[in-house]
Amino acid sequence: MRIAFLGLGIMGHSMATNLVKAGHEVATWNRSPGKIVEGTRAAASPADAAQGAEVVWLCVADTAAVENVLFGPDGVEQSLTEGMIISDSSTISPTATRKFAERVAQKGVQWVDSPMTGSKTGAEAGTLLFIIGGNEQAIEMLKPLYAAMGKKIFRMGETGKGQSAKLVMNLQIALIYEGFAEALTLAAKLGLDAENLVQLINASMVKSGVIEYKAPFVLRRDFSPNFPLRLMRKDIRLALEAAKEARVKLPGLETVEEVYDVAVEEGHADLDYAATLQLLEKWAGVEVKGEAA
Ligand code: NAP
Repeated sequence: MRIAFLGLGIMGHSMATNLVKAGHEVATWNRSPGKIVEGTRAAASPADAAQGAEVVWLCVADTAAVENVLFGPDGVEQSLTEGMIISDSSTISPTATRKFAERVAQKGVQWVDSPMTGSKTGAEAGTLLFIIGGNEQAIEMLKPLYAAMGKKIFRMGETGKGQSAKLVMNLQIALIYEGFAEALTLAAKLGLDAENLVQLINASMVKSGVIEYKAPFVLRRDFSPNFPLRLMRKDIRLALEAAKEARVKLPGLETVEEVYDVAVEEGHADLDYAATLQLLEKWAGVEVKGEAA
């Protein structure tokens, strides 16, 4: 298929690479120059990338970035033609998603929200899970592309429901990780060995995919970004916004948001979200160490 891929960050670069590997014809664009995906046409603007494309795939930071790429100067909107599909893998507001979808529908363009989970390693390996909202027939057309970048798709309902489900997933990741980080901090203060504790966790009902994935990074104190803290804070805020619209109270997540706010103030925005641990350590006056560190 002819695809325009917009946004070549941590996730987008590997996703576009996997589309090329699967034999698709890909035009790429990134806001800052210099991010190149081999085997693609490097376009001058979002409008240029979308010229003649059957599918426009977005993977940019947030709601404002999606709006800018679509409707800003030299935006995708200029190149929209009837029958195109826009698939958005950025994690953004479900409400804004529905508004964007209505706007492009006036030109006969369908919108599928395709946020994903699986982090940097899943994007590299082509094993992402896509969490989808949209019309069944459009999703059917996108299946070869999901297969090139991921291992499974979950349709959650109509347009916007993919984003709603993604927020609900990241709410849990943020809370589970924060529970783990608090446990490690208290354990260090109580003189427990972190590696030993992780082995106990993994053998017990406390075990979780989040802990399994994050523990090795934490134990060797590698806080380089797989999922940057600033983006998890964005998702926490989106979840709280959605909760407010739905008149739902989320006291745990509200508290975790405050931890993220301080972490950003302390200069951790571009580290992995696992770096919220460093704040807890500072407050407790300890450092969690595994043998690998
Ligand atoms: P990233 O590395 O920070 O990349 C963000 C991308 O968005 C870059 O290409 C950036 O361009 C572009 N961008 C930012 N603001 C823009 C604007 N105003 N206009 C146009 N482009 C803009 O982030 P990522 O980790 O790839 O994440 C991308 C999306 O996937 C986010 O919504 C994130 O929440 C979601 N996600 C990430 C993960 C993960 O583990 N990393 C997992 C699942 C979902 P520049 O290069 O110019 O900065």
